[in-house]
Amino acid sequence: MPALPSGSNDLSEDIRRYLEYHLGRFLGCDRFYLYEALAYTVRDRIMSEWRNTWCMYKRDGVRRSHYLSLEYLIGRSLGNHLLNLDLEEPVDKAVKDFAIALEEIEDTEPDAGLGNGGLGRLAACFLDSCATLGLPVTGYGLRYEYGMFHQHIENGYQVEDPDHWLRDGHPWEVERPEYTQFIKFGGRTEHFTDLQGRPRARWIDTEDVLAVPYDVPVSGYRNNIVNTLRLWSASATDAFNLHEFNAGDYADSVASKNEAENITMVLYPNDANENGKELRLRQQYFLTSASLQDVFRQWGDQPLTQFAECNVFQLNDTHPSIAVAELMRLLLDDPDKRLEWNDAWEITRNCMAYTNHTLLPEALERWPVRLFAQLLPRLLEIIYEINARFLADVRQRWPGDTDRVRRMSLIEEGPDPQVRMAYLAIVGSFSVNGVAALHSDLLTKGLFKDFYELWPEKFNNKTNGVTPRRWLAMSNPQLAELLTETIGDGWQADLGRLEKLKPWADDGDKNFMKRWQEIRLHNKRRLADMVLALTGVRFDPSSLFDIQVKRIHEYKRQLLNVLHVIHLYNRIRSGDTENWVNRCVLIGGKAAPGYQRAKEIIKLINNVASVINGDPAVGDRLKVVFLPNYGVTKMMYICPAADLSEQISTAGKEASGTGNMKFMMNGSITIGTYDGANIEIMDAVGEENFFLFGLKAEEVAGLRGRYNPQSYIDSDPDLAAVIDLLESDHFSAIEPCLFRGIIDSIKSPHDPWMTLADFRSYIDAQASAEAAWRDQDQWVRMSIRNCASSGGFSTDRTISEYNDDIWKLKALS
Ligand SMILES: *Cc1c(COP(=O)(O)O)cnc(C)c1O
Repeated sequence: MPALPSGSNDLSEDIRRYLEYHLGRFLGCDRFYLYEALAYTVRDRIMSEWRNTWCMYKRDGVRRSHYLSLEYLIGRSLGNHLLNLDLEEPVDKAVKDFAIALEEIEDTEPDAGLGNGGLGRLAACFLDSCATLGLPVTGYGLRYEYGMFHQHIENGYQVEDPDHWLRDGHPWEVERPEYTQFIKFGGRTEHFTDLQGRPRARWIDTEDVLAVPYDVPVSGYRNNIVNTLRLWSASATDAFNLHEFNAGDYADSVASKNEAENITMVLYPNDANENGKELRLRQQYFLTSASLQDVFRQWGDQPLTQFAECNVFQLNDTHPSIAVAELMRLLLDDPDKRLEWNDAWEITRNCMAYTNHTLLPEALERWPVRLFAQLLPRLLEIIYEINARFLADVRQRWPGDTDRVRRMSLIEEGPDPQVRMAYLAIVGSFSVNGVAALHSDLLTKGLFKDFYELWPEKFNNKTNGVTPRRWLAMSNPQLAELLTETIGDGWQADLGRLEKLKPWADDGDKNFMKRWQEIRLHNKRRLADMVLALTGVRFDPSSLFDIQVKRIHEYKRQLLNVLHVIHLYNRIRSGDTENWVNRCVLIGGKAAPGYQRAKEIIKLINNVASVINGDPAVGDRLKVVFLPNYGVTKMMYICPAADLSEQISTAGKEASGTGNMKFMMNGSITIGTYDGANIEIMDAVGEENFFLFGLKAEEVAGLRGRYNPQSYIDSDPDLAAVIDLLESDHFSAIEPCLFRGIIDSIKSPHDPWMTLADFRSYIDAQASAEAAWRDQDQWVRMSIRNCASSGGFSTDRTISEYNDDIWKLKALS
């Protein structure tokens, strides 16, 4: 299958053909159709490599990895493929025939928002790196009809709008109904003896749902590799309806069709916390079962004894951890497999690898046993059996230690017993990894201590990363050009080469530094335009851009940022403005719709912003905005324009963070706590190029039980003034006491996030940042050093480590 020609004339012809003959539109149509025609034109150029890649992976004996994730926060695809296929120039030229700039076409592509935040974006960056490294990795996920909700702000409050991203079609996907799978739910189990006299189980009287795959191409960076992201969509079976249909209940049968198709209707908008909804468990099992069956379909009749040598499943958090039990079920019960327990368990344990993403105990998934019994009865039996055998091992290793047995059981006993999904993942996997050095270390000392004592060899660290293609080459084209000019091409797929920039900072090359600063200023103007368009607030690009964008969560401490903003406001009001550094503070992020406190924090940010921006005494000294609807594409405008990157979580709570890496790569300087990957960022760039503050993780732990927030207020007049102003309803004049809940939470001795404990050192670190900013030469050098030291935070490095230590795949390029 030959590749299609990619000259600008060929491209232009194809765009026109798609527009007129396929889409039935003509010049002058809505821009979106031009985007669609261009997307098809580009997709055509992916097809032959996509097929070649698939053929290479399909050969017998090729070891492959399957990445199972409930989330892929992809964003836009067009620009990414243009970069990877080196089509930017010819396409730019081709679209001129349509009297439109490429950028305007790109702007009509909706974000594929099939994820919440960091965990989903990590999965998308991973796929990009796997393709770029030529690794045989397939992503498996769900094709949600509705992705992450859109956020708009009404009277300072978050309002959620549904994201019907598929409404106008998704030109990148290819439906493959021929690979549809049956997924069982409900019913009951039946035990019998087979012809060989062995005990067997059947799962019967189930309500089946069809899983229909849609493939999305994942192109590698200029290497002719195209991997696959396979997204499953739920569809009703004919059998599902037939019974009721024949009984004359036409309407009921159509209604039950809806029930089946609900499974992939909507992404759950919860980040780092779970809520135990039945539909969510259905989604998890649906993804897992469809993906495992798909792998067996491809495996065909090769001997199962070799299955584990050729297949590894990486579980992105506990969301797909039911895979452990599902793989057992398929190996034990499938009529063409029917392995003995020990053989099936041997395969399962050698195939599964689990990534943990959080230290927050409330985010560890547990499902009620009664829900399992009703929805997945056969899987519950298998989990019980895994648990019985596992606990026998524990008892043998620690005779008489009943408390340990209770702690480690896959079943949490109580009035409403629960299945502990993280423990199922650990017991069934050969590898358990955290996502930054500190996080992996804390896992072995805290949440998973008992398991670490049993199997220390399973535990390892894989510090997260971000793909430099999207987060540097695409987001910051001017800086990318300067980098290529300065250190040559090739850094895009070998980010360590950024090291070569260091001499340019150390020597203080005037010309280079000037260009660095001009590019950053250009990026800040671009962001200022966006801020003005979305909020009506004017950012002066010469001010210090101080940015915190991420999901709104108490542990991420947007509140600490707000306390600093109020402190600055107090200083302006009291005339304490000598050597003032003008500052524009931008905060953005979505709150889970059911997370009331997070929504109050958004309201507080908006109220503080409107008071400060409306106070003529403040002027350009301080501007504050809440940027609505933060997402992947917004971040591509934000991270190249940030001077200060706010990474201020309570130490020990942010597993890694990846926003921190995107900012660093683009030359922002971090103000941050000693938490997650911040630590590794600081190690890479040096403490003198990082504004460190706050308690360390062990200090936070040590303070628990004796935390006394009032003592910080009493001993710090600045903090007292901030709290006073909040309590005086200065920011809630129309609705007195509106922020009582927030204020009480940070004044409470039980505040798990210990916000006030870090106030003083945060204020001091902000003052250090201002001092550094006053010496612009020095700031630019710090900025260059941050970019130059960011090579280790490419997902190419992360994925190479996954491959060396866990997957052990052979690269195909
Ligand atoms: C990178 C990214 C995140 C993760 O940000 P953190 O600061 O690490 O929490 C979340 N959402 C989007 C859209 C991102 O691009």
